[in-house]
Amino acid sequence: MITELTAYCLSCPKPKCETGCPCGNHIRDYIKAMKDGDIEKAAAVLYSVNPLPELTSRLCDCDRQCQGHCVRGMRGEPVQIQQIERYISDHSKRPVGFPVAGDKKIAVIGSGPAALSLVYELRQNGCTATIYEKEEQIGGAIYTGIPDYRFDKTILEKIREEWKAFGTEFRFGSEIREEELGALCEENDAVILAVGASVENTAGFETNDRILGGLSLLYKLNIEKDAGSLPGKHAYVWGGGNVAMDCARSLIRHIDDVTVLYRRSLKEMPANGREIEEAMAEGVKFAYLHNIKEVRQESDHLVLTVCEMELGETGSDGRASVTEKAGTLTEVETDMLVMAIGQKTDLHIAGLSERPAAHHIGNNLFICGDAFTGPKTVVKAIRDGKETAQEVLKYLEGGDS
Ligand code: SF4
Ligand code: SF4
Repeated sequence: MITELTAYCLSCPKPKCETGCPCGNHIRDYIKAMKDGDIEKAAAVLYSVNPLPELTSRLCDCDRQCQGHCVRGMRGEPVQIQQIERYISDHSKRPVGFPVAGDKKIAVIGSGPAALSLVYELRQNGCTATIYEKEEQIGGAIYTGIPDYRFDKTILEKIREEWKAFGTEFRFGSEIREEELGALCEENDAVILAVGASVENTAGFETNDRILGGLSLLYKLNIEKDAGSLPGKHAYVWGGGNVAMDCARSLIRHIDDVTVLYRRSLKEMPANGREIEEAMAEGVKFAYLHNIKEVRQESDHLVLTVCEMELGETGSDGRASVTEKAGTLTEVETDMLVMAIGQKTDLHIAGLSERPAAHHIGNNLFICGDAFTGPKTVVKAIRDGKETAQEVLKYLEGGDS
């Protein structure tokens, strides 16, 4: 099977697939090594760029990224790059020939993909780190937000043990608050905030048992395993991104009727296309070109005031603008509304009111991953973690970062 997958690659002189990979994987070369039957070389090529292929090969939106750019895809199916990457990752070991660790003290707050990537890059350059994580497991939003049916969480345990083995100290159940950050900075040579983007946009609506943010719902189902407290059998999920798909697909496993309500059309939906297809196959309904104007709470249900939307000119981001259609207000009843309409970072821990322009945000304090970039993909967080590590190393050496 893997032989057929790799043989299909043309080993292009200018591999377009690589322009679609946000972390710059040397895709052609690792596939070539696999064609030559040399998985060790393939793994070396893969890990030289991407420290966490077990995450990317399961969570990347490859149809829009690497595979979406493969020349084979112009006249048929693209090379199944993600499957090949997963095979290499599952059948090889991560390189661990590290230099002797120095005495610099580094603290990392958060343990998502950016933090893990940063710590691996630091270790490759002779520095160990202590990770402070408020949950009892690593992974950040991968642990709390991605449902078990989509990602096997035992992979996180394996990564945690590997990171421990090369000297990473984990302090689980440790939420660092604003008032504790100063002391942490004094005790360490560098501190990196990698806290993700977990402040939910609730569009001004107050949340309660029937009106939930998407991340809160996913935490309830994934971590608290509390599907029993869902307030009924009918739900609307508001939004069109991956959090919305995770919410809808999680809910349809527990209740009868789930509708995703999205203000643009299917074509503009930012969610991974495969997730949308899976949601449809599982019975999730979709109401495109609709938006929510008001939410009214009755004694045992919600009433949503919904309007129709229409698309306008396409903007520089390639997405059509969208405006409300006059005279289209209707009311629908539901048991519950899940708002999956975006998240941002809680930056008050760092005393910031808006997202900074650089990773180095003061003295020995850095910020990386979604906390720095806003909510992006796993692979972008991995890349940002690596880049931040290089800036931290430069700072520790006494240079400008
Ligand atoms: S990291 Fe993601 S985008 Fe890049 S090659 Fe791997 S699966 Fe594709
Ligand atoms: S673009 Fe497609 S065919 Fe060409 S090197 Fe990349 S994966 Fe292979």
